[in-house]
Parts: sequence; C-alpha cells; structure tokens
Amino acid sequence: MPINNGQEYIESLRNRNLKVYLFGELVKEPVDHPMIRPSINAVAETYDIANDDPSIASAESSLSGRRVNRFLHIAENATDLVNQNKMQRKLGQLTGTCFQRCVGMDALNSLYSTTFEIDEKYNTAYHSRLKEFIKKIQEENHVIGGAMTDVKGDRSLSPSQQADPDLFVHVTKRDENGVYITGAKAHQTGCINSHWILVMPTMRLRNEDKNYAIVGAIPADAEGITYIYGRQSCDTRSMEEGDLDAGNSKYSGQEAMIIFDNTFIPNELIFLDGEYDYAAMLIERFTCYHRRSYVCKTGLGDVLIGAAASISDYNGVANASHIKDKLVEMTHLNETIFGTGIASSFQSYKTKSGNFQNDDMLANVCKHNVTRFPYEISRLAQDIAGGLVVTMPSEKDFRSPETGPLLEKYLKGRKGVSIEKRVRILRLIENMTLGRNSVGYLTESMHGAGSPQAQRIQIARQMQLEYKMKLARKLANIPESEAEELIKEHSDYFDRIFGLKKEAS
Ligand SMILES: Cc1cc2nc3c(=O)[nH]c(=O)nc-3n(C[C@H](O)[C@H](O)[C@H](O)COP(=O)(O)OP(=O)(O)OC[C@H]3O[C@@H](n4cnc5c(N)ncnc54)[C@H](O)[C@@H]3O)c2cc1C
Ligand code: SF4
Repeated sequence: MPINNGQEYIESLRNRNLKVYLFGELVKEPVDHPMIRPSINAVAETYDIANDDPSIASAESSLSGRRVNRFLHIAENATDLVNQNKMQRKLGQLTGTCFQRCVGMDALNSLYSTTFEIDEKYNTAYHSRLKEFIKKIQEENHVIGGAMTDVKGDRSLSPSQQADPDLFVHVTKRDENGVYITGAKAHQTGCINSHWILVMPTMRLRNEDKNYAIVGAIPADAEGITYIYGRQSCDTRSMEEGDLDAGNSKYSGQEAMIIFDNTFIPNELIFLDGEYDYAAMLIERFTCYHRRSYVCKTGLGDVLIGAAASISDYNGVANASHIKDKLVEMTHLNETIFGTGIASSFQSYKTKSGNFQNDDMLANVCKHNVTRFPYEISRLAQDIAGGLVVTMPSEKDFRSPETGPLLEKYLKGRKGVSIEKRVRILRLIENMTLGRNSVGYLTESMHGAGSPQAQRIQIARQMQLEYKMKLARKLANIPESEAEELIKEHSDYFDRIFGLKKEAS
C-alpha cells in the first residue's frame, strides 16, 4: 500500500523487528521509544509537506508516470533541483532539525547518471535495474537511507590496506542470486526510520579494492543488520516528564551505526559490483548534490534568528541598535548559504542519462559556508539570549509549589511577557546550539557530506588560477604571447556561468 501521509508513514515503521540497540539494550519498538520518536516525527513532515505544498515537495515523474514525493524524484530539469532546495528550507523551518530524507534523494540522483555511464562502458544492466527500483519505491513512497561513510579505521590507508578488512563494507561471498556484504557504516542519518538502505562506497577505489566496489539496496529490516543508536547531547530530556526542558520536544534528527554481517543483496538490487573505476564518479556526483542540499540549515537558521529576536523582545532589548545589527548579521550569513546553494541548483546541466546535475563549485562553496556560518549564527543567538540559556532551572522547579513562585518572581523579563514564554524560547536556543538539535545545526553542518577540507580540495581543483592570472596580466598590460589564447580556456564552471555549455560531454 502506498504511504499517503505522515501518520501512515509512522504506522509503516511498526512491527519490523529491526535489531536496534540503545543504552546496551534491544529496543522493542523504535516507533514508541520516547528518545527515537522525535526523529520519526521529523521524517513524517516530509510526507505531509508533499500534500500541503505539492508544487515544491512533489513532482511528475516521467519514470513512473505519476506524481511522486520530491525526495524520490529524479531531477528532470534545473527547476527540480531549485525546488529541492526550497523544500529543504521549508522543512528546516518546520522542524528545526534534520529531516533525514535528502541523503537517499541525492544518492538516487547520482546513481541514476553513474549507472548509465557504467553500462555504456561495460555493457552492464545497472541503469535499467535502478530504474525499476526507483519506480517501485516511488509507487510505495518509501524512505531511502544513503549509506556511504564507512568506519574507515586508519584514515591514511585504503580499504584493502586496513588491518581488519571489515573496516570498509565489502563483498564476502557470491552466489548465482547475489552477493553478501560485511562491514559497518558510521553516522547513518535516519537509517532506523528508513524502509531501504542504499549502500555505496565511501572513497575513490583501486583495482585491489575491487571487493569494496559495491552498490546495492537492502530492506532496512533485512537479516544480518544491527543498528547501534547514536547519542545526542541532552537526548534523555525526551524521556523526562513534561516538554519544556527538551526545547524542541516534537522533532530531532537521528544517526546510528549500521553493522552488516553477511547481509544479502539480490542481483536485481545491485547497481555497481566491481567497477571500482566508477566509485569516484558516484561519490563526486553524490557530494555535489548533497553539499547544496545543506541549504536545509537555512531553515534552521530562520528558526534560530526568530528565537533570538523573540528573546530580545521578551527581555526588553529588541530596539537596541546592536541587537538589531546582530539579527541583520545572522540573516546575512544565513542568506549567503542559501544564495550559494540555490545558485548551484540554478546552474544545473543535463547528464548523459538525461537527469540534471547541479554545479560543483557553487555546491562546495555552499557547504563550506555551512561548516562555518551556523557556528557564528549560534554565537550571536547565545549573545542575545543571555546567560540564562545555560543556567536555567528545570521544568520541575518551575512547576514546584516551593520554587515555582520564586522563579516566577525573579525570572521576569519585560512586563506582560509570561515566564513560560521566556523559558520556552531560551530552551529552544539551547536545543539548537548546545542540545539535541545542535547535532543537526552544528556538527552535522561541519562533517555531513564531507569535512571542510573535502570542500577546499574540490574548490582548489576548479578555481582555475592560471586563467585568472592571465586575465589580470592582460589588463595590467604585461605582455605575454599566449595571454589572449588562454583567456578562452574556460572550465566547466565558467562555461556554465557564461552559458557556453548546457549539457555534459
Ligand atoms: C550528523 C552527521 C550525519 C551524517 N549522515 C551521514 C549519512 O546519512 N550517510 C553517510 O554516509 N554519512 C553521513 N555522515 C558522515 C560524514 O560524511 C562524515 O562524518 C564525514 O565524511 C567525515 O568523516 P568522519 O566523520 O569519519 O571523520 P574523519 O574522516 O575522521 O575526519 C576527521 C578529520 O580528519 C581529517 N581527515 C580524514 N581523513 C584524512 C586523510 N586521509 N588525510 C588528511 N586528513 C584527513 C578530516 O578532514 C577531518 O578534519 C554524517 C555525519 C554526521 C556528523
Ligand atoms: S542534514 Fe540537511 S540535507 Fe542532510 S539529510 Fe538532514 S536535512 Fe537533509
């Protein structure tokens, strides 16, 4: 049965017998676990938004000939990618956290073009298999978790050089029906809330790493999978009575480690097997999509800016010039992230397979901004919030007949503002900058889709210093015979900017 809305999605996760460990114990039913449920609520919003705002959160798919959730849509033009960004910002505004569904969306889109090009070279059948899989999940409206990052062991060694071969996911066995994989994927966003896990390699591979070159789809409840839930700062507040101390009691992100122990992937769900020379293409296309997907953080930024403005109002300093200026600064940083991300989507081009790929330079600049600006926005929010954001008594103290009246008397802000309003906004600022959702707003911004250095490497590769030096020398009248000639040596990036190149070669 297709899933039609958030509530049906939540029900679809029940009774799956996933092997999920949290605090050293098996979780009976993740859907009903108070610490896990907020992350499920966040994914449920990705279903409801498709009904509430279909123009940005759903699309007509020419693959299945039906209207589908945008998270499962293969981008057919640049507008599709721009709309992904709009949907991501809106969902960030609605949840204030990571809503977990973009890794799968970006993985499907990067696999779509990569499998086409593998088939072209090796006469394999990955692309048609993938299309069948996409049609099926579009019909059922499933959640896809994208599992790329291996646990990696010694970072200076390749997969096959590690002391323990299982530090990268690899094929251990084959039979005529498919392959078996072993290994572990770290930091997996929303994996327990997914219906499928799409396993992909984490880095460029060589011939000796051939067994690590595997891409396939696995049902999240397949045999041989163990999940170990990741802790988030202040996460047990979700298990306490009341909703005040949680800050954002309804929504959170989710990361877990996935351990595969000879997990089976049938032939029809294998989309790359041994073609190690295509691992780099897949990873680069995936990170290119995903690095501009991080405009999701501008939705969270909108919430935090609103929280900072609210607390300044409750404290009676809303009209102070430095407060106004700090809110302008926060907005400027937030919109700078959005500007680069959405520009990357606008500059998309058609791949050989027919889907659209966004611009790599701008995607990397977007993600690099994301590794920095949310930290500065958070610093400014804490500045405006005042020290109470970290010294406030608990909800129980506010509700206690002994301490409640004292706190009511001494924690007053501006006349006419209830203490509870003040506390709620401060807890939200704490939640986003130090608590549960700082995972999504800060550290995920740092490392998700690659740590900062990964973006600097990509920017350096494409910055065309030689070309820029020639531009400068020509205008400075420094004679150089080939200056004119070299000025025409655009990269793909400049060709796209100047409209000289619209399609992949
Ligand atoms: C909240 C969150 C959610 C995530 N969600 C997902 C997900 O859904 N799916 C997924 O596949 N991944 C996910 N990731 C993983 C993310 O892509 C990785 O965290 C990121 O690639 C960095 O890898 P790492 O965490 O292993 O850090 P490390 O690789 O240990 O990096 C730590 C530092 O070491 C440096 N470093 C690493 N290797 C080298 C080297 N060889 N030479 C020099 N310096 C090096 C890095 O630049 C960095 O500064 C998520 C991460 C986070 C934090
Ligand atoms: S970090 Fe942002 S882009 Fe990545 S899955 Fe979460 S919401 Fe989507």
